[in-house]
Amino acid sequence: MKAPRFAYARPASLAEALALLAEYKDDARVLAGGQSLVPMMNFRVAAPKVLVDINRIAGLSGIKVAKNHLRIGALTRHVEIERSAEIARHLPLIAAAMPHIAHPAIRNRGTFGGSCALADPAAELPACALALGATFIAAGKKGERRIAAQDFFKGLYATALKAGELLVAAEFPLAKPGYVSAFGELARRHGDYAMVGVAAHGSTAGGKFSDMRVALFGVGDRPLRAPGFEKALEGQSAIDVALAKLDDDLAPRGDLHASAATKLHLAKVLAGRVLRQLLP
Ligand SMILES: Cc1cc2nc3c(=O)[nH]c(=O)nc-3n(C[C@H](O)[C@H](O)[C@H](O)COP(=O)(O)OP(=O)(O)OC[C@H]3O[C@@H](n4cnc5c(N)ncnc54)[C@H](O)[C@@H]3O)c2cc1C
Repeated sequence: MKAPRFAYARPASLAEALALLAEYKDDARVLAGGQSLVPMMNFRVAAPKVLVDINRIAGLSGIKVAKNHLRIGALTRHVEIERSAEIARHLPLIAAAMPHIAHPAIRNRGTFGGSCALADPAAELPACALALGATFIAAGKKGERRIAAQDFFKGLYATALKAGELLVAAEFPLAKPGYVSAFGELARRHGDYAMVGVAAHGSTAGGKFSDMRVALFGVGDRPLRAPGFEKALEGQSAIDVALAKLDDDLAPRGDLHASAATKLHLAKVLAGRVLRQLLP
């Protein structure tokens, strides 16, 4: 099928894009890499009246390291993140996640902001943002506002972005000394969305877990922290007892790939594998 008819605008500045989004509100959709939006339009799952193509807006793309954080521009392509020395050095969790996102052709066009704004519950980058305590920066006609990752993902394909707002970047705190991270996912084929995934970050100084942030994806309507599991890991050097807490933390629903019970089992197996990688 082909997409329904739509108008197309290619603003040259952020101000121009925001004016268009404010004018057309829910009738407008931002076009970034188009790797999700264009198929959705062709399948007629999405039918925006106006596409606002942000690809020509200078300053929306790039990776910058500041004193206390690393900033990823919304329009930064997956491939740039995957190959970035700064990401490998400061955010190894994201570096480990990137090869799991789709395939090289999709990573050449798909963007960081597109992935986070889409908020697929089985996507890798939203879970990494949650595990790393990122802050999203949204711009609207009234200025910018900052949204913590834990408040950004609101449900299935739903975020805290309001009509007329554009995601411009996310800031990730630089890791404290002694903090480590690990990533893992289970998918039927490499490049598919995950059946279950785990992104973990925290300290293992002295061989004991502390201040762990564990985000699971593919097991709910959004990426989820596991508070009971995280608490049970505190001060421990073993994982198996804490893993039982995931029974309370998670309530996955079955889908085409696996029943709810299988998903919970896979989440526990994977969380064990990922956390074990962190121990010296
Ligand atoms: C075959 C296939 C396999 C895939 N596998 C995976 C996978 O395993 N893991 C994964 O994470 N992704 C996967 N993807 C999706 C891919 O990562 C997309 O690139 C990503 O989801 C969307 O990024 P995009 O830049 O293409 O966004 P677009 O398709 O352009 O936009 C997606 C949505 O986000 C909105 N949007 C985009 N940018 C902004 C912004 N700056 N501000 C506000 N709203 C914005 C759009 O309006 C739209 O609603 C797959 C895609 C395909 C086609």
